[in-house]
Amino acid sequence: MKVKIEGKEILKGVDLEVKIGEVIALMGPNGSGKSSLANTLIGNSKYEAEADELTFEGTNLLQLKPDERAKLGIMMSFQYPVAIPGVTVREMLLASLRGRGLIVSALDLKKQIAEEGERLHIDEHLLTRSINEGFSGGEKKKLEILQMRILKPKLLILDEVDSGLDIDALALIAKNVDEMAKAGMAVLVITHYQRLLKYMVPDRVVVLKNGEVVDRGGKEIVDKLEEQGYKSYE
Ligand code: ADP
Ligand code: MG
Repeated sequence: MKVKIEGKEILKGVDLEVKIGEVIALMGPNGSGKSSLANTLIGNSKYEAEADELTFEGTNLLQLKPDERAKLGIMMSFQYPVAIPGVTVREMLLASLRGRGLIVSALDLKKQIAEEGERLHIDEHLLTRSINEGFSGGEKKKLEILQMRILKPKLLILDEVDSGLDIDALALIAKNVDEMAKAGMAVLVITHYQRLLKYMVPDRVVVLKNGEVVDRGGKEIVDKLEEQGYKSYE
């Protein structure tokens, strides 16, 4: 797939496959095109994709809008989750689940949110507030995990989920994602640090630089990057 933003080529031909139950780490220095790839996958209209094939479980994604891709089960957890004044997490989740054609009772969902909130140690007052309004960085990330656990996406894209998190929050996220991957979710975890990958061991690693894949392999690549950085790909 090639991707342009306002006519400028950002991804110069990337091919990638993520299988069910797999955790793929997408690594690369700042500005290599990782977020552009993620945004293109979820259908952000700023990014113009050109590809022979962009499919999700056999469905061509190229002509689909972001909400249509979400309904198929693609979810992205953002580096900086935005606040949505006036909308609670319950309202948002109810609309999302019903948008997928599921029959969900508001009361059952309320119970489920309370249970997950308790499990993730999210203060219950936060759950009745507008999404992410006045939340700390760690609280926002925990709320992202709560949404992921309830929405159960088939493909989860985590874009720099580790930025600004303490070790406990990192471990909590990694544990939850790992659990869900083992239960059959495909995960694309984007990071330029090795830190997160100590907790969430990837099945495969893909290294992106200047919009091109410069390396792929197993988790040994993470150790190599730890020692040599991205310089070895000059
Ligand atoms: P990464 O996530 O790997 O740090 P990005 O995908 O954010 O990289 O950026 C890749 C390149 O695309 C950078 O050179 C960046 O300046 C450019 N870019 C990203 N988003 C935009 C945008 N909305 N408009 C113009 N250029 C962009
Ligand atoms: Mg980025």
